[in-house]
Amino acid sequence: MKLDPQQQVLLLELATTQRLHESSGKAPESPEQAELTKATNALARQRSATHAAQRAVDDMEREILRIQADEARLRSRIADNKKQLMAATDPSTRKDLNKDLYTTKSRLNDLLSELAEAHNEIHALRNNLDLANQRLADAEQAFDAAQAAKDAAPAVPTAADREHRMAEIRQSLPADIIAAYDAQRNENSVGVAAFNGRSCGGCFIILPAGDIAAIRGAAADELPQCPDCGSYLVRT
Ligand SMILES: [Zn+2]
Repeated sequence: MKLDPQQQVLLLELATTQRLHESSGKAPESPEQAELTKATNALARQRSATHAAQRAVDDMEREILRIQADEARLRSRIADNKKQLMAATDPSTRKDLNKDLYTTKSRLNDLLSELAEAHNEIHALRNNLDLANQRLADAEQAFDAAQAAKDAAPAVPTAADREHRMAEIRQSLPADIIAAYDAQRNENSVGVAAFNGRSCGGCFIILPAGDIAAIRGAAADELPQCPDCGSYLVRT
């Protein structure tokens, strides 16, 4: 079959579009859309990780405030005990006051070590929050870049776009070529395939060297057929 090389490209586009149209019915996801979906999910995960890190800091800050309030209460109780001890003369009262002073001091010591530990923890939690915020900023930046790339990418053709384009190509090519394409397509569901120099894009078989040489050596306006599946080959 003979066809002008520029029209061969159109015929291949028709065959490729028709195969896509009939195999999936729906446009495959563009790499830009896939990247945007990935960035959207990563951003959502990082937002939730950052919220969790912020909550941990907030909880620990409240814990420190609680400890500090307890500390103030214990210190004032100690001061009160000491004041009462200066005035008290009754041995039993003094004994009770000394006992309470001892217990309160001991509780204060426990509380102070709890406070020191809480300060260590909040330091680690704040570092963790800084890191989470940095990662969130990175994820936001990656999302913006993916969104911009998606917006800049050409729209993926819809089924209606493909039908329109197929009709357009059919009208622009000679009727006998279209008839030969349809006949071959009825036979092997491909019709016309790309030849990449080694294998047929219809059956994906790497052809023997002799067939490859014959296909490569055919005139530019010739559409050789795949010796395996019969598809007309457009050399790309
Ligand atoms: Zn083939």
